[in-house]
Amino acid sequence: MRTFEQYVEDLKKMKPNIYIGDEKVDRTDPRLKGGMFIIKETFDKAHDPEWEDLCVTKSHITGNRINRFTNIHQSEEDLLKKQLMTRRLCHRVGGCIQRCMGIDALNALSVITYEMDQALHTEYYQRFLKYMEMFQEKDFVASCAQTDPKGDRLKRPFQQEDPDQYLRVIETKEDGIIVRGCKINITNTAYADEIIVVPGRYMSPDDKDYAVAFALPADWEGVKLLTRPAWVKESKVFDIPTSKLGDCETFIIFDDVFVPNERIFMNGHGNPRETPYAGFLALMFAHYHRHSYTGCKPATSEVIASASALVAEYNGIEKTSHAQDKISHLIGLAELVFAAGESSAKHSEKAPSGTQVPDEILTNAGRRLAGEMIYEEYKILADLSGGLIATLPYEGSFFNEEVGELAMKYLKRNPRVKTENIYKCFKGIETLAVSELGGLMQVAGIHGGGSPQMETITMMMRYDTEKLKDIAKYLFGIKKKLKPYVRLTVTPRQQLEKFRKALLRQQKPENT
Ligand SMILES: Cc1cc2nc3c(=O)[nH]c(=O)nc-3n(C[C@H](O)[C@H](O)[C@H](O)COP(=O)(O)OP(=O)(O)OC[C@H]3O[C@@H](n4cnc5c(N)ncnc54)[C@H](O)[C@@H]3O)c2cc1C
Repeated sequence: MRTFEQYVEDLKKMKPNIYIGDEKVDRTDPRLKGGMFIIKETFDKAHDPEWEDLCVTKSHITGNRINRFTNIHQSEEDLLKKQLMTRRLCHRVGGCIQRCMGIDALNALSVITYEMDQALHTEYYQRFLKYMEMFQEKDFVASCAQTDPKGDRLKRPFQQEDPDQYLRVIETKEDGIIVRGCKINITNTAYADEIIVVPGRYMSPDDKDYAVAFALPADWEGVKLLTRPAWVKESKVFDIPTSKLGDCETFIIFDDVFVPNERIFMNGHGNPRETPYAGFLALMFAHYHRHSYTGCKPATSEVIASASALVAEYNGIEKTSHAQDKISHLIGLAELVFAAGESSAKHSEKAPSGTQVPDEILTNAGRRLAGEMIYEEYKILADLSGGLIATLPYEGSFFNEEVGELAMKYLKRNPRVKTENIYKCFKGIETLAVSELGGLMQVAGIHGGGSPQMETITMMMRYDTEKLKDIAKYLFGIKKKLKPYVRLTVTPRQQLEKFRKALLRQQKPENT
C-alpha cells in the first residue's frame, strides 16, 4: 500500500495536462492541494492500526493486503465496512472523501465484463482482473468519468446534431480504439492516477459507437483536463482543518485518444453485440456509487448537524424547542440514509462474477431521500447560525492593530464561550455553507450519483407495481386472497440472467 507521500511523488511525475483558466499546470499547482488534503486521509488511515479493520482488506485476486478503496466487494461484510469507512472518513474531511467513484466503477465493471464473457464469449473479465491486480498493487486513486455533455437531453446519442455530445469510438484498430468526446463534472481527476470511463445511459443498436468502457492514466496523450478548483484560503493564524479542504471538478476532453486493447472493457463499435451491456454498466456504476452515498451523505448530514448544534450553543439558543426540533431532523435524516445502505448490504446478492451487489430499491431510496433533503439541511444550518456565516470580516481584521480588539468585542455571543472559538465556528460554517466549496457540495448533494429523478426511474424499473396492487385489491374486496409479503423487486442478477438467456437462445443454430 502506498503512503500519501509516495502518491504525491507519483503525481509529480505526470505530464502537465491540466488547464485552470488559460494556464496549463502540473500536479504541483497549489490550487489542487485542498483536494489532495482530502485524499490524504484515505492513505494515512490505511497505515493507522486503529483504522486497519475498516481501511485495509485482502485482495480476492492476489490475497495481498490492499487499501479498501481498491477492493472488489466479495461479501455483505465488505459492503458494510465500505459504508462505515466512508461515513467515518467523511466526518474527518467535512463531506466528500473523493476516492469512491473510481472503485465504484471498477466494481460495476467486475460484474458486467464477466456477464459479457458468458453471453458473448468475449475475454474481458480476465483482462479486467489483470488490470485490477495492477490497480491494487499500485494502490491507485481513480476518477470515474460517466457524465457526457449530452447536448439535447431529449435526443439519443446518435440523434444529436453534433455526434460528439456523447463520448464515442471513431475507429477500431488491431491494437486498440480511437475515442473522441468529453466527460463533464468529473471529481478528483486532476489528482487521480487513472480515469475509468463508462457509458452514461442505455444505448440503442444505433448508438453502438457510444457503448464503450476503458481505463487510462489521467495524463495520457490527448487527454486534456479543464479543471475548476474550489479551495479555501488557509488560515494564517489558526490550524483549522476546514480551511485546508478543497475539490476539483473537471471537463475531461478526449481529443482523438488511442486506447490500447488491454485497457478496453467494452466496445460496441468493434462488436455491436456488446451494445446492450452499456445500459447495464451505466446503471451498475450508478448503483455502487449510490451505495457509497449511503455512507458519505449521512456523514455530511452529521457534519451539518454537528455545526448546527455547536452554533446553537454559541448563539445561546441550544435549549430552545425550535433548535432542538431542527437538529433532531438532521440526525434522523442521517440515520435513515445510513440505515437504507446498511439494509441494502444485508439484502445484497452475489453476481455470477462473485462480486457482491447491494439491493437496488433500498440503495436508491436512501440516495434519493438524501438528494431531496440537501437544501433543507443547509437551510437549518443557515437558520440556526444567523447571517454572520455570510458576512464575517476577513481573518486579518481580527488581528489588525487598530481594529482587531473591536472586531473581537463585537463577535462576542454566549458569554461562556471564548471569542476565538466563536470566530473559528463561524469561519468553519462559512466554509461548509457559503464558500465556493460549500456551494459545490450543495449541488453535489442533489446531482452527484444521479439526480433524484434518476433514482425514481431505477426504482420504478425494478419494483413490481402490478404485484403491489394485490394489497389494495385484497383490502377493497377485488381479490379474495392475499399472499404473504415477499420483496417485490427484480434484482440486477435476475435481470442480467434473463438477458443472458435471451441472447444465448438467439445464438443457437436454428436446427438444434
Ligand atoms: C459536484 C459534482 C460532482 C460530480 N462528480 C461526477 C463524477 O465524478 N463522475 C461523473 O460521471 N459525474 C459526476 N457528476 C455528474 C452528475 O452525475 C450529473 O450532474 C447528474 O447525473 C445530472 O446530470 P446533468 O448534470 O447532465 O443534468 P441533466 O441530466 O441535464 O439534468 C437537469 C434536469 O433535466 C432533467 N432531464 C434530463 N434529461 C431528461 C429527459 N430525457 N427527460 C426529462 N427530463 C430530463 C433532469 O431530471 C434534471 O431535472 C458530478 C456532479 C456534480 C454536481
